[in-house]
Amino acid sequence: MKEKQSYHMDLETFRKNGYATIDWVVDYLKNVESYPVLSQVKPGDIRKQLPDAAPEKGESFDAMLKDVTEVVMPGITHWQSPNFFAYFPGNSSPPAILGEILSAGLSVQGMLWATSPACTEVETHVMDWLVKMLDLPEKFMSHTKGGGVIQHSASDATLCALLAARERVSSGEVNKKGGTGNLIAYTSAQAHSSIEKGCMIAGIGTDNLRLIDVDDEFSMRPEALDAQIQKDKDAGLIPFFVCTCVGTTSSLALDSVAEMAKVTKKHDLWLHVDAAMAGTAAVCPELRFINEGVQEADSYTFNPHKWMFTNFDCNAFFVADRAALINALSILPEYLKNEATNDGAVFDYRDWHIPLGRRFRALKLWFAIRHYGVEGLQFHIRKHVELSQQFKQWVIDSDNFDLVVDNPLNLICFRHKDGDDKTEAIMASVNQTGEAYLTHTKLNDKYTIRMSIGQTNTELKHVEHAWRLLNEASDKLSK
Ligand SMILES: *Cc1c(COP(=O)(O)O)cnc(C)c1O
Repeated sequence: MKEKQSYHMDLETFRKNGYATIDWVVDYLKNVESYPVLSQVKPGDIRKQLPDAAPEKGESFDAMLKDVTEVVMPGITHWQSPNFFAYFPGNSSPPAILGEILSAGLSVQGMLWATSPACTEVETHVMDWLVKMLDLPEKFMSHTKGGGVIQHSASDATLCALLAARERVSSGEVNKKGGTGNLIAYTSAQAHSSIEKGCMIAGIGTDNLRLIDVDDEFSMRPEALDAQIQKDKDAGLIPFFVCTCVGTTSSLALDSVAEMAKVTKKHDLWLHVDAAMAGTAAVCPELRFINEGVQEADSYTFNPHKWMFTNFDCNAFFVADRAALINALSILPEYLKNEATNDGAVFDYRDWHIPLGRRFRALKLWFAIRHYGVEGLQFHIRKHVELSQQFKQWVIDSDNFDLVVDNPLNLICFRHKDGDDKTEAIMASVNQTGEAYLTHTKLNDKYTIRMSIGQTNTELKHVEHAWRLLNEASDKLSK
């Protein structure tokens, strides 16, 4: 009897299955509007259709793809539907998806320059492009003392900023001896939960994170920040880090980076800017007011995986002083020593983030930027902002709904005139139709619907349809 030589998928079969997979994805994206945007399954519905144990004998690719269609699809919430208005977009685009495939095809580990030089150099180059595209300060570019790096998520970027600031203020002592003692961090009371999580992980402790009051527009109050820092200093504590938000998650509120910078400069603190969602807007010159004052920041982050047509995961993180970051995160065991690293001639990105290994994520961002060009990105960002502003005007003119905050970008927060219960019921009713999906927040303790417009293919007709659904639900629930 002949022995089996291999269990691998041979490359010609891979080619055939690869074409079938692309066909599947293209058909999916073509038909994405035919699915209920919000998955309607109950907990456990998907798992109970899967066998208890892994198959003893390998299965056909057709069987796998069939299970994706039949078992997986009902459990998918369609983030790529143009009727997706929930949370923030996690948008993507065909060029980015193709870059992702190439990244998997190469499957390199880019932890060091030497482990795949192109993985580092394309990334550095595209990060430099972003600085120019968004008109960020030159000090974030790689030819200066700073530079940019792709991180998994904004949460990782903010954690890295915290670690760099922690090491800078302690002159490297915390890494050696542990214990962060009296270090105090500051952020807006409206800041993303990732700042709190970062403080937990970095050993700062949530008791040592001050949540600063916001004004009527939900922007952090600079005088409250200044007063709290002074109070902590007077108490013998060591303020070291401020995270300011350009576009909060709850309401896309914009802190004034310029005002925060005055305070951080006065007290000599690290200023980190979290522009996870809104950062992409700066590709349009007329929207760059959101970043005013960013020249003073020590670090800046935004997510191309939210609004820049690049599928998750792709976060952009910039620092003005890369030595501070590298000092916080670098270790060099014997098995990673090599000439290029020793000469200091290259970036080794493993020293710029938490894990050692890293994928070639720059490919998908590079492809997205090259496909659209700056002009194409501006076109689509402007369209999303225009649609949002149009929606905002409908809310203002409406007999059913009230606008809660006046946002100049692409998140519109509103509620029903009859209050919380009605607002919540309307949103639930719209989501149940499966024809649109929205989520909520609480602002001033009141239930508020968020209409987030940024999915790659959202057009006027989708926004109009959502507005119609909201008003129909309002009428129906009033009877
Ligand atoms: C979405 C968001 C984050 C978290 O983003 P991840 O990339 O998922 O970690 C952080 N800050 C703000 C303002 C956000 O909107």
